[in-house]
Amino acid sequence: MKMKFCLSCNKELVGRSDKKFCDTECRSTYHNTNRPLYEISIQKINSALRKNRSLLAHFCPSGKGTVKKEVLVQLGYRVDLFTHIYPFKTGTYFFCYEYGYLPIKEKGIDKMLIIQKQDYMDKLTYSPWSIKIEK
Ligand SMILES: [Zn+2]
Repeated sequence: MKMKFCLSCNKELVGRSDKKFCDTECRSTYHNTNRPLYEISIQKINSALRKNRSLLAHFCPSGKGTVKKEVLVQLGYRVDLFTHIYPFKTGTYFFCYEYGYLPIKEKGIDKMLIIQKQDYMDKLTYSPWSIKIEK
């Protein structure tokens, strides 16, 4: 019988002939160290977006909510990451999946007015070429 070795730690494998790793730990070590950098960065951004979404959902239990930006940022909210935007006449909603927020100011304090996405917001109402971001 042909000897086989763990692709991660090179220990000899015993047991099933189709085994490639000693155990799940070796399997995940192997997959993590062989993942291309872009995959790692995609995963980081995906998980940050997921976290953003969870935080928005948490502070928007009944379809609407207002929270200080500072509170969400301290909990790990990344305002630089969003899945899409919905600009309208007086502002822009920044969405993470089906939750979004409108940046507002109340008495000089930055707050986020959180909402759940409405069906009418699925339509593209702007041209990306016409958006101007102030610096
Ligand atoms: Zn191993």
